[in-house]
Amino acid sequence: MRENLYIVSAPSGSGKTTLLQHLVTKFDHLLFSISYTTRTPRGHEEDGIEYFFIDRDEFQGMVDRREFLESAEYHGNLYGTSRQFVEENIASGHAVILDIDVQGAQQVKDQIEGAVTIFLMPPSFTELERRLKERRLEDDETIRRRLAIAKKEILRYNDYDYVVINDKLDESFGLLEAIVRSGSARPICQEERIREIIASFGGMD
Ligand code: ADP
Ligand code: 5GP
Repeated sequence: MRENLYIVSAPSGSGKTTLLQHLVTKFDHLLFSISYTTRTPRGHEEDGIEYFFIDRDEFQGMVDRREFLESAEYHGNLYGTSRQFVEENIASGHAVILDIDVQGAQQVKDQIEGAVTIFLMPPSFTELERRLKERRLEDDETIRRRLAIAKKEILRYNDYDYVVINDKLDESFGLLEAIVRSGSARPICQEERIREIIASFGGMD
């Protein structure tokens, strides 16, 4: 099965939220999949906007009912992607973008052939630290742990189709837009239109 699905992974603080918010406003056909998590909301986060915030029992219930396309534990919290959201929207002709960690990305790639995978990198460790601190949403210990996880995650860049180094925001926007545009040019994403064109030539025979 080949699908119009984009997977984005990056160490926390690299700029994923900033970049993906831009992308979904830029492309009407692109929908962001809101994950489920047992993490507590951070800053101004709202239930149903950044995440669906649920407790561990509810999360386990969803695992048992096979309602997640993938799920993983990250920094002591559970995260999962709704299978129904992804399948229904792809079936209705949308592209879906997932913001998931490296473990989840691997699980999705194992199930869905043709998903476009993108790894976002901060331009340096020092800049990642600066961005996490500037965001001011977590205490020093949490930031220290996130940076330790980032050191491991960063080494997985080669498992992805594209690497976007998020240094200058405008350049990153441009590069991501180009990736989504070329993703949409794949035959699988244009099947309906291609069928109409072929029909206008008198069909397949
Ligand atoms: P993530 O979703 O990956 O955790 P955010 O989008 O919340 O990251 O970005 C973390 C911080 O870095 C935010 O304060 C954001 O405004 C800032 N930021 C994101 N991209 C850039 C960039 N290219 N240059 C400078 N600051 C950035
Ligand atoms: P944060 O707590 O900073 O929002 O996210 C922590 C990490 O969890 C990030 O790497 C983010 O991409 C990842 N994440 C968010 N949602 C999901 C999900 O549904 N599944 C998986 N596997 N990871 C997720």
